[in-house]
Amino acid sequence: MSAPAPTLWPETPSATPDAPLIDTHCHFEAGDDAVALLREAAGCGVGVIAVGGGAALNAAAEASGTWFAQGFDWSCEGTPPPLAPKPGMVAVGELGFDFHWRGPETAAAQRACFEAQAAFARAHGLPVIVHTREADALTLETLRALALPRAGVIHSYTGGVPLVRAFLDLGYFISFSGIVTFRNADALREVARYVPGDRILVETDAPYLAPVPHRGRRNRPAYVRATATAIAALRGETLPDFAARTTANARALFRLEECAPPPPRGAETTKAKEAPRATIKV
Ligand SMILES: [Zn+2]
Repeated sequence: MSAPAPTLWPETPSATPDAPLIDTHCHFEAGDDAVALLREAAGCGVGVIAVGGGAALNAAAEASGTWFAQGFDWSCEGTPPPLAPKPGMVAVGELGFDFHWRGPETAAAQRACFEAQAAFARAHGLPVIVHTREADALTLETLRALALPRAGVIHSYTGGVPLVRAFLDLGYFISFSGIVTFRNADALREVARYVPGDRILVETDAPYLAPVPHRGRRNRPAYVRATATAIAALRGETLPDFAARTTANARALFRLEECAPPPPRGAETTKAKEAPRATIKV
């Protein structure tokens, strides 16, 4: 079933095509009109990486018609369902550790799930998209032990400067979501000033975490511009400069030019002409 996009997403963010961005972490859920959301994003100069994290999100990410990641999050225990490399798949994830939603007794099971997916990422030369919540020590220790050759990204980063330094030392990119725009996020804004320009990314984590001034609404890829605008100001950069930097970082980490996004599901049949390719040239 596809939801009626015009009523779900009534507001169109303003377009500034001089500053193309990539939302490096967006989820589509059953019922979302991914094609409409991607088309709106493209109209605002925003490319999108659709991220999985369980069977339903993986399926929606793959069907969306943009670059995607597939994986199994902290809710998976032990051996995750098998993954397979696919056209348009640019990363494994999201995967990671969470002791907010899961108890500490699940640490070994979460780690086994993480390591199985890391082995897949290593075998197929893919980066990983890492979630960490109330699990900093275990995340850091695991990533250090794995020493993944392509590393990846710590997504929706919310830790401090000492921890970010440790992730940077391991080769990871750091991605900021709308949390950096929240009123009580001064410590995180400090981190967003600290991360080197060649290692910083932006994301929405849609449908969650809509940035100010959209807070409280359902998040969507086009809103990544608000987060980028806020971080550019913090860093004393112009939006076009910051956008160019983060877009180049996303292209490098996920090797986007080597990998064309797949067509939206169904577009390869008779509807090929009508189905818009929702990605942009950046
Ligand atoms: Zn996510």
